[in-house]
Amino acid sequence: MTSITLAGVTKKFGNQPVLAGIDLSIADGEFCVFLGPSGCGKSTLLRMIAGIETITAGELQIGGQTMNDVPPAERRVAMVFQNYALYPHMSVFENMAFGLRQAKTPKAEIDQRVREAARILQIEPLLERLPRQLSGGQRQRVAIGRAIVRKPDVFLFDEPLSNLDAALRVHMRTEIANLHRDFSQASVIYVTHDQTEAMALADKIVLLRAGADILTKGSIAQIGAPLELYHRPKNLFVAGFLGSPT
Ligand code: ADP
Ligand code: MG
Repeated sequence: MTSITLAGVTKKFGNQPVLAGIDLSIADGEFCVFLGPSGCGKSTLLRMIAGIETITAGELQIGGQTMNDVPPAERRVAMVFQNYALYPHMSVFENMAFGLRQAKTPKAEIDQRVREAARILQIEPLLERLPRQLSGGQRQRVAIGRAIVRKPDVFLFDEPLSNLDAALRVHMRTEIANLHRDFSQASVIYVTHDQTEAMALADKIVLLRAGADILTKGSIAQIGAPLELYHRPKNLFVAGFLGSPT
């Protein structure tokens, strides 16, 4: 099925190591959060899973198949970016339809899938608008809709709510949790530096840390359920990052 496994995954940019020996597995349908301070390599790890960044060493499997050299479009993953990455000159409908048109999906099916996603996300009245005619929260819904229409096995979110104000962030966080619960059996990997967001959303948290100096690499500090990390932190970094009681 669509479990994800990383074994000894390493990333270097030139000869600068960024991530070293990442081992982790994500179960089918699991909501996994990559949490950690800015610069520890969360986005890089997510981008390698998406296939938009190469893997320097180690192996990535999705659904039991090695993905290292499989192009992004063939991975059955869909990514939602922090800055939404909508096409400014296209309507909401066309933004959501774009990937399906590229994949030569029949017109009637595109129409049906876009309208279904728009209904779930409550953006049906906005389908003919341009991105600049939308609020931040509405743009983020469109970005999520564009991922949903592709019916991926895995959703990848990179800090999707960090451009929204605090109240909307909490609201959208609840919506994402509800979407995962009600409409999708897909696995989710969700990147954030916000421990409250991670605690609220995750089945499992992968807490990453950067190296102590510029030459040491990003690595996994601890993996576990939110309350497990909070109550049984393995080291001072984990306790400090999650604000565990001491
Ligand atoms: P995070 O998402 O956790 O903030 P990133 O994955 O964006 O961290 O970055 C991890 C490290 O890799 C940082 O030191 C960053 O400067 C570096 N990095 C990211 N992308 C590139 C790149 N394309 N070229 C060189 N260094 C990069
Ligand atoms: Mg990042």
